[in-house]
Amino acid sequence: MLELKGKPVADHIYQKISDEFKKWPSMNRKAPHLTVVLVGEDPASQVYVQHKQKACEKLGFGSTLVRLPASITDSQLSEALQKLNTDSSVDAILLQLPLPAHLDSKKMTETIKVSKDADALTTASLGKLMAGQQIVASCTPAGIIEILKFNKIDVSEKNVLVIGRSQIVGLPLFHLLNQLNATVTLAHSKTPNLKKLVAEFDFVFVAVGKVHFLKASDFKKNAVVVDVGIHRLPTGLTGDVDAEGASDQLSALTPVPGGVGPMTIAMLMQNTFLLASRNR
Ligand code: NAD
Repeated sequence: MLELKGKPVADHIYQKISDEFKKWPSMNRKAPHLTVVLVGEDPASQVYVQHKQKACEKLGFGSTLVRLPASITDSQLSEALQKLNTDSSVDAILLQLPLPAHLDSKKMTETIKVSKDADALTTASLGKLMAGQQIVASCTPAGIIEILKFNKIDVSEKNVLVIGRSQIVGLPLFHLLNQLNATVTLAHSKTPNLKKLVAEFDFVFVAVGKVHFLKASDFKKNAVVVDVGIHRLPTGLTGDVDAEGASDQLSALTPVPGGVGPMTIAMLMQNTFLLASRNR
């Protein structure tokens, strides 16, 4: 079984960005700039934000962290985001989620201008993706497509199954796979007989958010499986798929940890670079 590891793919993306970015000074272009907005003190978010800033530093991109207190109101946060929308020194904006419970995440995300929407989470960005006109797509599904490409896994003219329809993973993944000429079935919590469906597909993308939702023997023999789930257990990180027995059953699987996870920040850097390329 092929382990579809994210690190070599992420390194390849970083290298590609770096090679392109080297050409910028001779074109008199200023470095791309990502601004991350962090509301409150969520410890996991603080770590993610640090990783994002380090990735910017490593590439020579500019980055700003806007820290706002957990007590902020919707209208104050909206105002802060609007300010970034009109700041010409900012190419890409990422509102770190989750927000404190009293804030309206959907409404706040919507405030971000589509041309600066680093994780492509606004309805305008999703609409562009649906129409095949996106500049960038949401980082995690875009990273999954890069894993497929890097490993020369061709989904064109294939029947593929995506389980999960969130706006951050399942739905954009559906559209990205459609753009690659796959015939995509989108399953979700209301899909009947899901196990029967899973057993019919050679390509399955699992983004359900439930520990070991599927086991290796649920899949068709030699299926290619992408496991997007991440769960922190006392024994370590695990996915939506129980990998036990996978090496005998599947032809390829993204490991958890180490599969889809490492792609997210690499794709955020690529999105920042692409948005900056368009903004200048
Ligand atoms: P979500 O909760 O927003 O969406 C889950 C989706 O799964 C929903 O569309 C729902 O319809 C579907 N679902 C739930 N129960 C189901 C069932 N019984 N049968 C079929 N479908 C069902 O979650 P999300 O944000 O899309 O994330 C999914 C998983 O991916 C989570 O574990 C999350 O932590 C992980 N994730 C990982 C990365 C990464 O970088 N690797 C990034 C984002 C999310």
